[in-house]
Amino acid sequence: MLTACFSFYFYDRTYREQLHSANQQLQQLFNTVESSAAVAAYLDNDEIALEVARGLSSNDIVSGAIVTSVTGMEVRGGSAIESTTPDLKTYTLDSPFMSGEIVGNITMLPNQALIKTAARDAAWRHVLIVSMQSLALVILAIILVHRNLSAPIKKLAGQLHLIPPGSMERLECPKGHAQDEIGLLVKDANTLLTATQNTLDGERRLREYAESLERQFRLIFEKASCGIALVNAEGRILMYNPSLVEMLSDASTSPDMRSTPFHSFFENPDQVRALLQTAYQTNSPVTSDLQLHTKSADQSRWLNSLISKVTDDEGDMIVECILYDISERTAREKRTQFEAERDPLTGLYNRRAGYRKIESALQHAKQTSSHCAFLLVDLDKFKPINDQYGHDAGDLVLQTISRRINKHLRKEDIVIRWGGDEFLIIVEHVNQPKAIAEKLLAALQKPIDLGNGNRDVVGASIGISLFPEHGQKIEDLVQRADIAMYRVKEAGRNHFSIYEKRRGDEPIENTAKHHNSLT
Ligand code: GH3
Ligand code: MG
Repeated sequence: MLTACFSFYFYDRTYREQLHSANQQLQQLFNTVESSAAVAAYLDNDEIALEVARGLSSNDIVSGAIVTSVTGMEVRGGSAIESTTPDLKTYTLDSPFMSGEIVGNITMLPNQALIKTAARDAAWRHVLIVSMQSLALVILAIILVHRNLSAPIKKLAGQLHLIPPGSMERLECPKGHAQDEIGLLVKDANTLLTATQNTLDGERRLREYAESLERQFRLIFEKASCGIALVNAEGRILMYNPSLVEMLSDASTSPDMRSTPFHSFFENPDQVRALLQTAYQTNSPVTSDLQLHTKSADQSRWLNSLISKVTDDEGDMIVECILYDISERTAREKRTQFEAERDPLTGLYNRRAGYRKIESALQHAKQTSSHCAFLLVDLDKFKPINDQYGHDAGDLVLQTISRRINKHLRKEDIVIRWGGDEFLIIVEHVNQPKAIAEKLLAALQKPIDLGNGNRDVVGASIGISLFPEHGQKIEDLVQRADIAMYRVKEAGRNHFSIYEKRRGDEPIENTAKHHNSLT
């Protein structure tokens, strides 16, 4: 485009210069013949004038010429010239003798066709030279740019295209370009490739580490013997491991744990809800033993829970529950506690545990200002059973009597095996101890199957003391019940008696023959 513009400009300029040069040539021609023409015009000499006109028109750039004088001479040479012919060039002829006097004119008809053709040819030549030069320069520039820039860059681009990201391959610097911009480009590109390789290597190692860590955590999560659950603020289980499914399977009706709120798996959902709430509100974990809700009441299952607040990926607060099945331990503890507290033969409270139960019952009675009855039951003529039927039969009697006592009392009443054939019963909130005693006597008197086809009847003597009427302390109340019971024995057995203070009563310490080891 630039070359075209320049060519047009040079063409126009050269063309104009050529036309201008033709005009100058005409002027020079005129100058050459001026003096001769002036003489011819001054003298009206046709021959000289004709010579001048012919001389002028013999020139290539002049088609025709007319020499005129002011006196009327007119001599023509070359092509015919009319006054209306365009492009005529007229020059005045001054007198050769008197300065400033005009003696005639020379009119020339320029050979415009020749002048223009010559100008055009010259202009074209010029343009051609300029174009050729430009073309040569362009070709040179193309060759240089291609050799020094395009070809090496193309080669480098091809090499770069084949290098996989993160590989060890690097660009090779084209020969002769080590010190120039191409060399610099190769160096920088190689630095970038190294940096990319390092970054990708680092990322790959990090990803491998994260993946192995994730695998390990998943393994821990899936193989953990404890149940793990993530629970949201509404108590919905978001995530759980296989151990949790196994633990909660007894309490679950749905195969998908997520469809059941976490707290509803437990016997006491309010307790679990409160625990979750506490975990949300505090930053320290909370722990508690929770009883699982099971279909059969016999199979009680206990889980130890560790509940702590965690933040999930989206920044939401959730609760992590880690559960351990402690059913066996709890059962063992209960068994141990039962064995420690219970009499092995009858399953009733033993004396030590019974004493603690009485303490708390009395404390409760004091707080609520309620009444308590102490019933001391001693079997009548039990020794002869042992003697007659054997010790095992005696044991059977003790077990049967214990069952019957339990059967006729409320769950909250305390029944203690106080001695060999002696039972202490504490009944809270009691108004009618007499009715209880009668009911017990009736139940105990029923015949007992002693095995080997033997049946027998055992009666009992029941002594009753009342709290707070007969004392505030356990020892006093037991002693008064004991006194009352001995009064029944004395009176012929198989009856009950509520303690009454009598004049001849011995001091408390001496009357309690059977209870000197109580404290
Ligand atoms: P009483 O009518 O005066 O109460 O006389 P009793 O025959 O019932 O005899 P007592 O209450 O004085 O003594 C209780 C007896 O119970 C003493 C002991 O031989 C017997 N005995 C104590 N513990 C056991 C036991 O665990 N198994 C059996 N089979 N007998 C026991
Ligand atoms: Mg007895």
